[in-house]
Amino acid sequence: MRNISVAVDGPAGSGKSTVAKLIAKKMNIVYIDTGAMYRAVGLYCLENGIDTKNEREVLDILPKIDLDIKANSNGQTILLNGVDVTSKVRTQEAGKSASDVAQILGVREKLVEIQREMAKGTSVIMDGRDIGTNVLPNADVKIFLNATVLERAKRRVGELQALGETPDLESIKEQIRKRDENDINREHNPLRKAEDAFELDTTGMTIEEVTEKILSIIEEKVK
Ligand code: C5P
Repeated sequence: MRNISVAVDGPAGSGKSTVAKLIAKKMNIVYIDTGAMYRAVGLYCLENGIDTKNEREVLDILPKIDLDIKANSNGQTILLNGVDVTSKVRTQEAGKSASDVAQILGVREKLVEIQREMAKGTSVIMDGRDIGTNVLPNADVKIFLNATVLERAKRRVGELQALGETPDLESIKEQIRKRDENDINREHNPLRKAEDAFELDTTGMTIEEVTEKILSIIEEKVK
């Protein structure tokens, strides 16, 4: 099989990571979670007292951040300056900081370079916000996942409970709304459906149904 690339974009909680990970496993291709990279930069800022809304401060410390991403059969492991932060980046705080630092062009340039490098010479499925529009504009297959705010908030509550947190649905809904607003309205590579992406509303669909649907789109496109 020739190398293929699949771009999966969509807002927070649309099911991108869960589904992309499953598809990677089924197709035996590399899964790249780009959100985790923005989260790792956000986490570094949180841990080092850097104001994520202050572009100058973030750009000053950016050279001190070394990210090493290793794809494995369960998804990916992310090392921040040599420390495994794969679980630590999943918190709400890291997500919020990620959304702040993702507004900064210098941060995006650094991470996009890593992402494109990882996609070279191998088959990948990559999820994020700007994969189909910016990171891999020539991807063989582009998918844009969506779901209502309520559905996405319920999914995030489940994920956070699994991490031992006790989230409140209403405040998660509000955070998701704010994150959408940040991601859609930012100046550099905002969250957008690529013109040639297939849009799928996953509200009320099971993970299996979404996975099967995307697999059939991939098969149709690359056969
Ligand atoms: O997908 P996830 O929720 O892990 O992403 C965290 C944040 O990182 C997003 O809210 C978004 O601001 C940013 N992000 C981005 N571009 C990507 C992936 C994530 O701006 N390709």
